[in-house]
Amino acid sequence: VQDITDGKHTEDELGRYRNALESQVRMDPLTQVANRLALDEAVARAWSQALREGSSLALLMIDVDHFKAYNDSYGHVAGDQCLQQVATAMSALLGRAGDLLARYGGEEFAVLLPGADAPAAMAVALRLQDAVRQLALPHRGSACCDSVTLSMGVTSLQAAHYPGADAAQALFQQADAALYTAKQTGRNRVVLFGADCMQALHS
Ligand code: GH3
Ligand code: MG
Ligand code: MG
Repeated sequence: VQDITDGKHTEDELGRYRNALESQVRMDPLTQVANRLALDEAVARAWSQALREGSSLALLMIDVDHFKAYNDSYGHVAGDQCLQQVATAMSALLGRAGDLLARYGGEEFAVLLPGADAPAAMAVALRLQDAVRQLALPHRGSACCDSVTLSMGVTSLQAAHYPGADAAQALFQQADAALYTAKQTGRNRVVLFGADCMQALHS
């Protein structure tokens, strides 16, 4: 009996250890939000669900403005703290099941909003932008504002319009093109994807 009990304890411990490792693999250690792997998996899952339900799927690409200058002014440690504060402020705003904030890389974040159409996605984007504005983190190196700001590209796709395998790629490309337009037109703004964004990207 003792042998079986000991074996069960070891099994439970291993199970807990495996779960902890699995969640760490999908988390960004600096900001404690989801990482790119978790985002890619969530996009694939949400896309299948949107196809089944005939619903839409929105993606926000978010980039901290003039962040290189932030590091240059305040140092990398302060830069890291800034990214943590930005991530915490944004994640506090996302409450709906399935919504996911991820650190895409460097000073870029992405937000996945299953079921959101363009107006709903824009509303979330503007709330996120406002939350970071309210942090009022001083940014003396920024050319667009004296505090830390975000640029965002927003897109929402009807899954049924993209039955092919490249749907997730289209989502990222569109959000990225909109983000590019936000940067080109002055930063500290939210841009909804439109045909003009693709033109700007390719011109
Ligand atoms: P833009 O407004 O065009 O986005 O300008 P930017 O300076 O934010 O963009 P750029 O791509 O030139 O620089 C990004 C900077 O972000 C450079 C890099 O050192 C910094 N960065 C990326 N990851 C981290 C990080 O984990 N910690 C800190 N402190 N800095 C980071
Ligand atoms: Mg960037
Ligand atoms: Mg940036």
